[in-house]
Amino acid sequence: MNEHDSERISGVLAHRGMVPVSTLEEADLYILNTCSVREKAAQKVYSRLGQVKRQKTKNPNFLIGVVGCVAQQESEEMVKKAPFVDLVVGTHLYHSIPDLLDQLESKADESGRSSLVSTDFLKAFRPSEISQVRRGSEFRAGVTIMEGCNKHCAFCIVPQTRGPEYSRPAEAVLEEVRRAAESGYVEIQLLGQTVNSYKDPSRKGYKFADLLDDVAQVQGISRIRFTSPHPRHFTDDVLAVIARNETICNQVHLPVQSGSDRVLRRMRRQHDRDWYLALVDKLAASDREIALSTDMIVGFPGEAETDFEDTLALVEAVRYEQMFSFKYSPRPSTEASAWDDDVSEEIKRSRLYELQRLQREIQLEIHNQRYLNRKCEVLVEGTARDGVRKFGRTTTNKVVNFFGNQAPGEFATVQIVAVGPNSLQGEEIKLSAGAESRREYGARV
Ligand code: SF4
Repeated sequence: MNEHDSERISGVLAHRGMVPVSTLEEADLYILNTCSVREKAAQKVYSRLGQVKRQKTKNPNFLIGVVGCVAQQESEEMVKKAPFVDLVVGTHLYHSIPDLLDQLESKADESGRSSLVSTDFLKAFRPSEISQVRRGSEFRAGVTIMEGCNKHCAFCIVPQTRGPEYSRPAEAVLEEVRRAAESGYVEIQLLGQTVNSYKDPSRKGYKFADLLDDVAQVQGISRIRFTSPHPRHFTDDVLAVIARNETICNQVHLPVQSGSDRVLRRMRRQHDRDWYLALVDKLAASDREIALSTDMIVGFPGEAETDFEDTLALVEAVRYEQMFSFKYSPRPSTEASAWDDDVSEEIKRSRLYELQRLQREIQLEIHNQRYLNRKCEVLVEGTARDGVRKFGRTTTNKVVNFFGNQAPGEFATVQIVAVGPNSLQGEEIKLSAGAESRREYGARV
């Protein structure tokens, strides 16, 4: 989502006639897009700004802007802590950056430069920035369908930094998807903080399942992903849409955060363990071979050893194909930040280590059982780290390295010949002249 925000900002700036440069020395404007979901990311902002500040002595026209969740959260505080920052723009106002730059210029003419801070929340979507997105990829297009969150999980800063939920009209989303398809994009990523709580503001009763189904009908789009769903909104109609549309990828991210009911209640997650496992069973019963991924927090306030054991047991039971796991850190203005952060750093570290060790083990088992010697359709993304092979992703979001000649955005059929916990190695299978499509070559893993 943050990457896509950068594409939106880049788009509005390009529309104003600015061009991207590759070094700081060439730049007249530097915009730092920030994340405050974890403490470490937020801390990095000021140290990065300290480094960039030096450029101001070399280039008197050099402007520094800060956008994103830290900008939203800190607002006026940011220019008190870092007075050399020229522009602080909140998460709802990226479309107004060109106007704010104009205001900065006229301020500088009148009275010497001073900072501008703009962090209000809006109540409706801003269509202008959507038409100006400058995408970083030529084959995968992120498309925002909703923003904000009404859930207020006890640990999460997102409702404060992104504001309440609001959705884009479906017709605007579909128009953006159609235009992306016409420009040659083959993969669409529908984006939103709780993407599946989507509701069309202009059409009563039209929900996420309807939008997903309509996106799946757009000609030219081969893959559709969506992130990040909330388990509560994973309704049967969404499962039915996934089941009948092969272009929707065989991958579902299902953030659980903990395996302990006691902790889930304190987190205010709106799901308990049994309910979540029943949802996992429903997904497993689908004809599609869906790979599950999740987010997990260890060391939430009050998490006892037995709670952590429940988390490990849940991971064993679900057998996720991928997990994003973190140590809890209190975030300002969240409910849990008022509670005693009573799990020591040492215990948090050892629980995270234990959880990640288990997850690596499970991933390796899954890779051996499910992928080894099977044929996969791979969407090529670029050249692998070794500088020789290509790498791409399966529909289940597994990274595959193989020798091939494809350009990014092209598909290859690859047989998996070796697996590790984090990636797969493959050999390309050349299609015979008579084969009508690469999918004739076996399971679309
Ligand atoms: S649902 Fe997700 S974004 Fe919303 S408060 Fe909970 S963790 Fe944060």
